[in-house]
Formats: sequence, structure tokens, C-alpha cells
Amino acid sequence: MSKLVFNFKLKYSKRTKTPKNFLGGKGANLAEMEKLGLPVPPGFTISTKVCDFFYNNNKKLNQKIVKEIKKELKIIEKQSKKKLGDLKNPLLVSVRSGARVSMPGMMDTILNLGLNDETVLALADKTSNMRFAKDSYRRFIQMYANVVMGVDSYNFEELIENYKLTKGVLLDTDLDENDWDGLIKDFKEVVKKKTKKKFPQNVFNQLLGAISAVFLSWESNRAKIYRRLNHIPSSWGTAVNVQSMVFGNMGKDCATGVVFTRSPSDGSNKIYGEYLINAQGEDVVAGTRTPQYITKSANKNSLSKEKSMEEFMPKVFKQLKKILKKLENHYRDMQDVEFTVEKNKLWILQTRSGKRTAKSAVKIAIDMVKEKLISKREAILRIDPNSLDSLLHPTLDEKSEINVIAKGLPASPGAASGKVVFTSDEAERLNDTMQDTILVRVETSPEDIQGMHAAKGILTSRGGMTSHAAVVARGMGRPCVSGSNEIDINYEEKTFKTSNLTIKEGEIITIDGSTGRIILGQVSTIKPEISGDFSRLMSWADKYRKLKIRTNSETPTDTKTARDFGAEGIGLCRTEHMFFDEERILSVRQMILSKSRNDRDKALSKLLPYQKKDFVDIFKIMNGLPVTVRLLDPPLHEFLPKNENEISDVAKYLDLPVKELEGRINELHEHNPMLGHRGCRLGISFPEIYEMQCRAIFEALVECKNKKIKSTLPEIMIPLVSTEAEIKIMKDLVIKVARQVQNENKIKIKFLVGTMIELPRAAIKAQDIAKHAEFFSFGTNDLTQTTFGISRDDSGKFLNDYIENKIFDIDPFISIDDGVGDLIKIATQKGRKQNKKIKFGICGEHGGDPKSIDFCSKIGLDYVSCSPYRVPVARIAAAQAQLKK
Ligand code: ADP
Ligand code: MG
Ligand code: MG
Repeated sequence: MSKLVFNFKLKYSKRTKTPKNFLGGKGANLAEMEKLGLPVPPGFTISTKVCDFFYNNNKKLNQKIVKEIKKELKIIEKQSKKKLGDLKNPLLVSVRSGARVSMPGMMDTILNLGLNDETVLALADKTSNMRFAKDSYRRFIQMYANVVMGVDSYNFEELIENYKLTKGVLLDTDLDENDWDGLIKDFKEVVKKKTKKKFPQNVFNQLLGAISAVFLSWESNRAKIYRRLNHIPSSWGTAVNVQSMVFGNMGKDCATGVVFTRSPSDGSNKIYGEYLINAQGEDVVAGTRTPQYITKSANKNSLSKEKSMEEFMPKVFKQLKKILKKLENHYRDMQDVEFTVEKNKLWILQTRSGKRTAKSAVKIAIDMVKEKLISKREAILRIDPNSLDSLLHPTLDEKSEINVIAKGLPASPGAASGKVVFTSDEAERLNDTMQDTILVRVETSPEDIQGMHAAKGILTSRGGMTSHAAVVARGMGRPCVSGSNEIDINYEEKTFKTSNLTIKEGEIITIDGSTGRIILGQVSTIKPEISGDFSRLMSWADKYRKLKIRTNSETPTDTKTARDFGAEGIGLCRTEHMFFDEERILSVRQMILSKSRNDRDKALSKLLPYQKKDFVDIFKIMNGLPVTVRLLDPPLHEFLPKNENEISDVAKYLDLPVKELEGRINELHEHNPMLGHRGCRLGISFPEIYEMQCRAIFEALVECKNKKIKSTLPEIMIPLVSTEAEIKIMKDLVIKVARQVQNENKIKIKFLVGTMIELPRAAIKAQDIAKHAEFFSFGTNDLTQTTFGISRDDSGKFLNDYIENKIFDIDPFISIDDGVGDLIKIATQKGRKQNKKIKFGICGEHGGDPKSIDFCSKIGLDYVSCSPYRVPVARIAAAQAQLKK
């Protein structure tokens, strides 16, 4: 067996090549800091390998390792000029966990190890500070009993609280040496009562017990859950660091603190942190005392009356500042540093890359490139694309008063305030008079699109993160809280109830789609700041990526937003959304309900100018960029009236008896609409509908040409194709209409015809379909539904069970499943074999998911198309995919 325990001072060449894997993050960084000449208390690291041995040896340390630990302990005794258990100058150590990646708070640490009834007196003598010695001993008993012997902490906390109550003081710091002495006796009693064992007095046994306990904490429930959530393999194991103690609790010239080298919230290049005078270990985070700020300026902006470290310990502060700079330059990233001051001497106890907000991440990445610390490539790779979402939506001003009345799922980020409305109509009506609304529905359906657009936010009491409301809201960039089972909606009374409140229509609420909070009243929001840094980062990303980014959009507003965010075309323009407009829906219904071809043609000719205008508007905004238009896709009954009032209105307008209308609606009813009369099946049954749509597209092109608007190459997409014959018939139809429009206008019209691949048969038979298709666009929402045979809208009921039972790692409607991925791969291979010039893209929700984008890049698609607000996320993700290749 080779060496397994390493002094912090040991040179790298003698270690394994990947110290982090071997020494854990904390251990590797402690050694690294030692090498940089920083003041690190002496210590050694027991490698992650030993964790393996420990578990393979009945959860015991074997003799060889115990021997090595003894040897290494001797070395740090020499380095610190103290000895473990010595009665003149006792060494105390901390025993600290340290996995490869930091798992904050998940694992155990023990401080002040080496104290017993005798050494505590020696420590008091040596430091002439009995209070400090006793305070350290009681801390040690508390931690050791808890971590190693399994006695719950509250047993001790309770004793301390009672003691303070009797004595009539508030703070731990108000207790003196005699108080602690009494408590130490009580603590030891508790240990004896709870464990039937005496508190261990042999200091080396204490050490072995603590090391074993840290290894054991790797398999604690809390650690296991954290690993599962963060995809950390349990095989990694943890390292253990044994380090001589330095003391922040010896008096007023001592302190302990945590500091970031730059602001973790906004990224400004100023150190930010907190510290406590006369304190130890986790006191700063534990919240028993309110910590003070490190810098003078931070203190000035707060209400704190205490002095900042900069003022209170100016010399140490200066030294700390220098060290922070050094650490940042060395690691070339913002650092999160733990330190302790013992009698005005500064010690550094930990450094790691600091967690930060998206805003801060962007600023730091850009600044570090300017400072020549990192390259542009590194800057791009450091951004978590998903986190950018939070930069693109307004957020709540957390400084204002926030009265949370219920919670739901954080379905679409951003915050919005407005009057409660319960129907889409009402949302639209108020929007017309410039009033903000929150649309509150049990769940939403495609008819609510206009209302969702008109509202500032959407709240539903049913449905998950991929419910209609959630998906559409994300697409529109509307904040949404979905599936709040804490609210009870009553449409009739126009109210919703929380556990103790009734909210009426017209009352103002605020929803926070980033956290799922539902809040009473108006809360001020902070506008998204797409600052110079952000757009600069984007332009760098654009240089590296190969994948094009398009958007799914059909309204001029969305299209404009997407272009502002950098979309390079439209990958999916859903024409049915254009049908829901109030003025048109009647003609749409007339068209659907027509009994003869003649009647239908009449209704269609009324729709034609509307569709044409929509396309002109979109082509204009896209200014020459490609636009993929999907012909009508959903089953026709989605457009029909549902409730009695609506039915009678429509009957009146169409001059039809209500009975007849109801009969027709019944006829169109389907048992399984997802698999019903929809997509190109409509085009086969009612070619005149598709003909009208194609005519609208081509006439829009003509109009653009006449108006000297830069011409677009439209890509006409036939939905839900599964056979060669379907695409062939549809393609012929498109060509026929194109010829007609060409001849009528004496203008040459250019266009592409392609299909959506959203059925497994289409993917498997791609070689046949590619004979007639100039592009494939993978409709991964439907392809996932049809591959699994799972309806997305109903999956909320069981998806969690599937994730809990590890059947799915991730919701397949969020990240492309690898089975669905295989179908896509097959389709691209077969498609390309048939037609070398064929273009590939995807247009499902997955087009905005970084993991799926990585997949698309790997298999060589030409573009991904996503909702407008995901475009910047996709641009970064595509650049990262390329850089990682
Ligand atoms: P975590 O991984 O949970 O941050 P640490 O091992 O960093 O746990 O220990 C927590 C705290 O204990 C440190 O921030 C530091 O304040 C204190 N600590 C650890 N080792 C020592 C030491 N050798 N001397 C003084 N304080 C220490
Ligand atoms: Mg720490
Ligand atoms: Mg589809």
C-alpha cells in the first residue's frame, strides 16, 4: 500500500496527479495555500482512498493507517511545537471532513480535540486564560458527544439556556469560567446517561474516534440526500483533515470570520464578509450572535453599531486583504475564505470557489477577462446557462414588505403584481384599459392563450412544472406559479381561499415565479438589467458556437423579444395561435362547422387576409432571417365553444340551431385527441385549410417584395407526418399553391418544405420521408409523448414517483431522454443518407435546455429553437457545447 496520509507541506510531485480527487477539495486547497506561503495551521490529510478501506474493513481503521496517522501526528507536533495530551503545552486539533466537491454543512467537523480533564488545566495555565480553556472544553464535549457518540445537541443547548436564564444573562459570552465549569460537569453527566459510557479521556482514542466519525458521516442520510440531488457518486468518499487548532475565542484580540473576494450578489470587485470577535468555528453562521461586517463601507450601509474588522483590527484586515488578492490570482476565480484571528495573528483555514448569483457570475467572468486572469473561453464555461434565466425576468425587491399567503411551484421565473381575475376575457378587458392582472385558474387550456398574454402573471391550483400553464408561461416569459394546492378557487363566487384568507376578484396579489410565493398586495419589482457585461458575454459565446439559435414565436411581440435576445430565425411559428384572436375565432368556427366545401371556402377566404397580415408582420421583424411556419396542427374541436353561453352566441352568429351546433361539436369530440384527427391528417381531410395557409404565406412574400421589405425564405412545415405518402401529398399541395401565386403575381417564389419528426415511425422511416422533405424539425415534446406513450399534461400525477424510484433521472419533458435521443440520431443518419442537403433542427421545449442543447450539438443538428426568453440561455449553452467538444 502506498502513502495514504499527507502533511499539508508535502510537495505535489510526491502526490498523485489529481490531488482534489485524492485529498478532497479542502485538503488540496489547504496544501496549495501552504505552498503559497500563507499562514495555515499545520496539519495532514487522510486521503479519500482510506474512506474506501474504512468501509471495506467493517467501518474500522486498520493498523497500517493508524500507524501512519501516529507518524504524521508526530510531524505536526514538531511543526506546532505542542504535543497531543501534553500536560504543559497540549496540542489541540480539529478533525474536518472534505469531499472532492464542497458539501456545505452536510458532513461533520470536530474542534478542540485533545482536551480532557487534565489538558484543559494545562491549556488554562499556558494561556493564563481559564475561561477560554473551559469554553473550549465544553465546546469539544458538545461536538464530540454529538458527532462521535450520537448525543443530540439540544441536550446541551438546553442546559446552556437554562443556565443563562437562572443567571439572568443573554449571551454565551456573558458566562464565566465557573459557569462553564459547572456546565462541563453537567455535560459529562448527560453523556454518561445517554450513552452509558464515560466521556473519553484518552486523547489518541479521541482522535481515532473523530476520524472514524467523519468517514461515517459520508453515509449519513443528509449526505446521501445531498449527493443524490447534486449527482455526486458515493464512490468518491471523503478525505479527513486533522489540523492544529488556532483560537478565535481567547479574547477581544481574537475573531473568526468568512469572506468572499468579490461580492457574491452583484460581483463588484470588493471583498465582502462577516466576522465575530471572540468566537470560534461555526458561530458566524450559527446565528447565535449577529456577526459584524468586514469592511467599513459595508458597515456604513447597514444599521450595525459595532465596528467593522477594517476599523477594529486594521492591521490584520490589511493582511487579510492582501491574502485574498493572492488567493484569487492563484485560483483565478472568486474565493470563499474562512479565517481565524488568534491574538491579532491571522490564520487561513479554508478557501474554495465561491457560490454566486447569475448577475455576479456574469460580472466576475467579464471582469476577470479584462484583468487578464482568465480567457474568454473560460469565462463562457464558467456560466451556468440555466441561471441566466433569473437575469431575464423582473424579480421581487426583497427589501419591501412581503406577506406570503400561500405557495405553489416555481413554474416560470420572474415576479408580477396585478388584480386577481378568473377568466381570460377579464384579463384581456383590463389589459385594454392598461390594468395589470394576475390570471388565476384551476388550470389553463389553449383557449386561455390570449388571456395569459394579457395578464402579467399566471397562478394555477393544479398542474406541475410542465403543465400547460407552466410551459406556455415560460414560453411567453410570463411569471407563473402553478399547482398551488394551498389555494382553493371558486369560479362562481370569483374568489380563492387560502388557509385563512379569502381573496376576491379585483384584489391585488403578487406572484413570484422564481420561488413559488403568492403574496398579498403589490410588491415592487426590480427590472431585468441586461447590462453591457451580459451582452458582451453573449457576443463572445456567439463567436464560439456552431449551432444556430432560433425561436418559437408567432406574435410580433414575442418575435421582437426573441430578436432582441439574438434569435437567428424562427424555428417554429404555430399558425393555430393566430386563430384564437377574437375577430377571427368566429370565422375559424364557421370554417370548422361548415357542412359543404363551398361554405368552408367562404369562411377560409375571410381568414386569409388575417393570416397574410400576421406573416407580413413577422417577416418584417425577421428581416431576411429564416422562418419555419407550421401548418395547422391541433384537432379542430379545440377551437369550438365550450360553455352554454358561448355555444348560443356562436349559434346566433352562424344562424344555426343550438341543437345542430351541439351535434356537430359532439361529432368532433375525440376520446384521445393527442392521437386523433390532427396534424397533416387535417390537411389530408381538408386540403383547403392548408391551401389557404400556404397562400397566406406566399402572398405575404409577394407583399413584402412589393413593399421592398427584405425577403424571407419560408420553411413550410407539415406536422405529424408518419408516412412517405403523407409528406408527398402535402408537398405537392404546397407546390401547387406556390405555382398559383407565382403565376398570379409574376414573381418567383422560393421556399422549403419539410416536416416535423414527432412520431417514432417517422424517425424510423426517415429515409423515405427525406425523399420529400428539405428539413426535419424534431418536435421533441410530442416525440417524447409518443415514444413513451405518456401524455405530458397528465404526467404530473406520477412523474414524481418515477423520479423517486429512479426510473427517470430527470423529467424527460425537460431534458431529452436517451431513448428519444436515439430516435433523433437514427432519423438524422437515415435522413442525411437519403438527402445530403437536408437541414436539421429541434423545436420542442428541449431547445432551451442546456443538456439537450449539448446533445443536439454532439449529433450535429443545424439549429435549436426555443422560447424567446430562453434564447440567451441557448446561446451560452451552444457555445459551451462547442468548447467542450
Ligand atoms: P465545513 O466544511 O462545514 O465548512 P470546516 O471543516 O471548514 O467545516 O470547519 C468549520 C469551521 O471550524 C471553520 O470554518 C473554522 O472556523 C473552524 N475550524 C476548523 N478547523 C479549525 C482550526 N484548525 N482552528 C480553528 N478553527 C477551525
Ligand atoms: Mg468550512
Ligand atoms: Mg406536435
